[in-house]
Amino acid sequence: MRILIVEDDRLLGEGILAGMKQAGFQAEWLRDGQSGLDALRAEPFSAVVLDLGLPRLSGLELLRKLREAKSAVPVLILTARDTPRDIINGLDAGGDDYMVKPFDLGELAARLRALVRRAAGSAAPLLQHGGLSLDPAARLATWEGRPVELAQREFDLLHELLLNAGRVLTRAQLEAKLYPWGSEVESNAIEVHVHHLRRKLSAGLIHTVRGVGYMIPK
Ligand code: CA
Repeated sequence: MRILIVEDDRLLGEGILAGMKQAGFQAEWLRDGQSGLDALRAEPFSAVVLDLGLPRLSGLELLRKLREAKSAVPVLILTARDTPRDIINGLDAGGDDYMVKPFDLGELAARLRALVRRAAGSAAPLLQHGGLSLDPAARLATWEGRPVELAQREFDLLHELLLNAGRVLTRAQLEAKLYPWGSEVESNAIEVHVHHLRRKLSAGLIHTVRGVGYMIPK
């Protein structure tokens, strides 16, 4: 899961970024509303942590523009504004969840996991498919009841494919979800992860769609 943090406070932004990486998310951090909106228009994110008081474009303006553009990305508003009126405005502008500062990083991570699974059309905290079970909170995978050791990117790749079961994900989409900005990605990186997953789990689990990408059927 790749999330975008839009927060202008440097210490807080660094803290959230570190905390979300610790929780197993790929995370990027931007410090003003316009940059946040530009990034969300250009690239796929699983969820957004959005401050309201931001330079260049406020959090509420960003949110309205995002929803006007028909983006369905889950947005969690994280702000010091704590009156009922603020919360109502945030949710009615298109926010999916609302947390008031100060907050707990573990709770933020759990709320993001809940938003992402709901957005994928699922209520269950465990993702299951045939013999495979994936626990995004504990970052554990089991195959036919036995734990399977997966590298971080293998786990993330599998998670994306399961969240999008029945849909083909292109190599570019998968790279964007798995690798942070500025990282050098080997041209065959996704293929290599898929190869390892097939070997560790089951050869038939992940389907290659020639010339397009990969999918796990529904
Ligand atoms: Ca702020």
